[in-house]
Amino acid sequence: MRPARVIIDLAALRHNYQVAKRLHGGKVFAVIKADAYGHGAVACAKALQGEADAFGVACIEEALELRAAGIQLPILLLEGLFEASELALVCEHRLWFAVATPEQVAMLEHHTVAAPVHVWLKIDSGMHRLGIAPAEAKSMAERLQATGKLASLNWMSHFSRADEPEESTTQQQTECFDQATRGESGESSLSNSAGILAHPRAHRSWGRAGIMLYGSSPFAERSAVELGLRPVMRFESQIISTRQLESGEAIGYGGSFVTDKPMRVGVVACGYADGYPRLAGTGTPIAVNGRLTRLVGRVSMDMLTIDLTDLPDAQVGTPVELWGEQVPVDAIAKRAGTISYELLCHVKRAAFSWQDDTKD
Ligand SMILES: *Cc1c(COP(=O)(O)O)cnc(C)c1O
Repeated sequence: MRPARVIIDLAALRHNYQVAKRLHGGKVFAVIKADAYGHGAVACAKALQGEADAFGVACIEEALELRAAGIQLPILLLEGLFEASELALVCEHRLWFAVATPEQVAMLEHHTVAAPVHVWLKIDSGMHRLGIAPAEAKSMAERLQATGKLASLNWMSHFSRADEPEESTTQQQTECFDQATRGESGESSLSNSAGILAHPRAHRSWGRAGIMLYGSSPFAERSAVELGLRPVMRFESQIISTRQLESGEAIGYGGSFVTDKPMRVGVVACGYADGYPRLAGTGTPIAVNGRLTRLVGRVSMDMLTIDLTDLPDAQVGTPVELWGEQVPVDAIAKRAGTISYELLCHVKRAAFSWQDDTKD
C-alpha cells in the first residue's frame, strides 16, 4: 500500500480548543468549516462534543453532514443562507445562521419559518467582504425583529488584519462594531483565532476559533509552539528509493537542482497530488525518522526528493514527516508562499486515520 498517510490527533484538537476558551473567556465557536480545515469535520466535531459551546461551518451542506452524524450542539452557518429554500432545513435541524446581506434580510421577510430562528447579524466593520454597512445595522435589525420570526438576534463581525498584532485596523473595526451595535441586546462575536490570541480588547461574548484549533499560528512572526498550540495533523510517508549521486548531477524535472558535492538522495512517496505544495522548493525542511533534512529539486505529482547525505541509516521504508510535530505546517506554508490554512485544506489521496489519546 502506498505509504502516504495522515494521522489526526484529536486530543491535541481538544487541547487547542481549551487554549482558545481560556484566552477568550465566555463562549467559543469551534470553526470546522471546509471539513474542519481538512481534518475531517465529523471526527473533529465528535472529539469536541464535550468541550465546544457550538460549531461554525460555511454552509448548510456542512451543517447537515454534522447533524446526520448525530452532532447535537448548535451550529452556525457563517455565511448565512444562499437561497430561501434552506430556511426549512435550518428550522428542522435547529441551525443558527448569519445574516450578512440585505438580500438575506429580505429572505427572512418573504418566507415563512416553521420555528423561530437564531440569527447573527453580521456587520461590515471594515473588511468590506460580507456584512451590513454599520449605518444600516439598526434598521436591518428592526426589519428582522419586525418579521416576528426570531428566537434571538445576535451580532457579529470579522477582522481583516487581526493577524498583524500592531495593526490599528483591528481596534478601528472593534470601535466601529461597538458603535453600530450600541444599546442593542443579544450576544456578540468578533474574534477569529488571531483576535482571540492577540486582541483581548476585541473579545465579546463569543469567540470563533478556526486555525488555532488545528495547532497552527495565524501570525507570521509567532510560532504555534510559542502560542501553546499542539499540531493536530501529522502528514507522513516513507522513502521508496535511494541513490548515490556524484557532484554536478541534476535531480528531477527541469534539473533545477544540481549537486555541488557527492550526495545521497532519497525519493519520498508524496507529491502535489497528495496536497504537498509544488512551490516548496529546495531547502524546505522535512523530517526523516525524527531528523531534519531538506527537499532538493522540484516536487512532482507523486514523489519528492530529499537530501540523505548526512543520514546514512535512512533507507527504503524509513518514515518521513512532511509536516506535524517536527516540521510545523507553518514552515512549509512559508516556503511555498502561502498559509497553513490552504495546505491543511488541500491534503488528499493520502489515507486518513484519527487518534484519540484520552490520557491527555
Ligand atoms: C473561517 C472563519 C473564522 C475562523 O478564522 P480563523 O482565522 O481560522 O480562526 C472565523 N469567523 C468567520 C466568519 C470565518 O469565516
